[in-house]
Amino acid sequence: MTQDAIQGLIDALPLPSLIVTQGDRIVGANARAEKLLGQGLAGRHLVTVLRHPSVLDAIEACATSHQPKTTRYLTSADRNEITYQVYCGYVELAEVQGVLVSFEDITDVEAVGQMRRDFVANVSHELRTPLTALMGFIETLQGPAQNDPVAQKRFLGIMMTEAGRMNRLVSDLLSLSQVESEERIRPSHSIDLTLLIGSTLRSIAPVADKARVKLVKEVPTDLVLVPGDEDQLRQVFTNLIENAIKYGGDDQTVTVKLTHVQRDPALRGPAVRIEVCDTGPGIDQVHLPRLTERFYRVDSHRSREMGGTGLGLAIVKHIVNRHRGRLKIDSSPEEGSRFTVILPALD
Ligand code: ADP
Repeated sequence: MTQDAIQGLIDALPLPSLIVTQGDRIVGANARAEKLLGQGLAGRHLVTVLRHPSVLDAIEACATSHQPKTTRYLTSADRNEITYQVYCGYVELAEVQGVLVSFEDITDVEAVGQMRRDFVANVSHELRTPLTALMGFIETLQGPAQNDPVAQKRFLGIMMTEAGRMNRLVSDLLSLSQVESEERIRPSHSIDLTLLIGSTLRSIAPVADKARVKLVKEVPTDLVLVPGDEDQLRQVFTNLIENAIKYGGDDQTVTVKLTHVQRDPALRGPAVRIEVCDTGPGIDQVHLPRLTERFYRVDSHRSREMGGTGLGLAIVKHIVNRHRGRLKIDSSPEEGSRFTVILPALD
């Protein structure tokens, strides 16, 4: 096989690849490999190009054993860490014998794995706290409080609260997983948002009354139709309005405003905008990009105290994505918060 043929073969490979012969000399590299490791690789000695010990060891082990080897190669570009899976395979191309080294970017796969591990750790932690409390109270009821009806009543009340917390968490986890599994299925029912917002506000009214929060509805008089999933959109508005009541503080006003938009620049078409505004203490800018992450809370203690699971906005984000819409959050301390959902209008 000629040098040109080797180069032709390596150019056709979809991954950054190079061939290293005995004596650790690079005899061929494709453009992808040159982008990763630098120009003019052919003819150079391997160690002048790659100093990563585990990659050098894998290449050497492959060259001597003629067995395939894999290893990891960590590098950075534009201040981002990139992880490559490196595959080393022994090749004999006529008079050229050596190791074909290919680099696969597995950064995203690694990130997904890390997210999954974090998620499991978070769920376990969130469940363990109320579970530990429940077990502690059960022990107390079986022991010291066995004959103390007053303490029993108080402990059962706390146990109910803790069980309720676990129940909410499990319901939110189930909602999240259901919304995720349907995310690619476009909702097609025609939903009248004026009606839906009206009925959502009515069902939340007792919660608002309890916190002495005034709910204000600003909606157009005509029909406002969007293609949607009624239960999911109800969940979006419920989560946003409940948050506005919870975090906006007692004796405040929460406004829900519905408007038609002729052409939304992000959606590139006619849209409907639903704003949920509170007059509470607002949220510092640094938190805004992360608010829709699962279990992200500005103040964990306050969220738990208010019965929050830390999943409400993650659910909202997924539902809005499923509806091909956008979620915008504007807030600054002392000015209250505005959560805006923009949904494509029915054509
Ligand atoms: P939680 O169950 O904690 O309410 P969410 O996902 O609904 O979880 O909200 C995430 C965090 O965002 C909350 O813990 C809170 O810190 C913040 N947040 C949400 N809505 C508001 C709001 N209207 N005003 C101030 N902070 C808010």
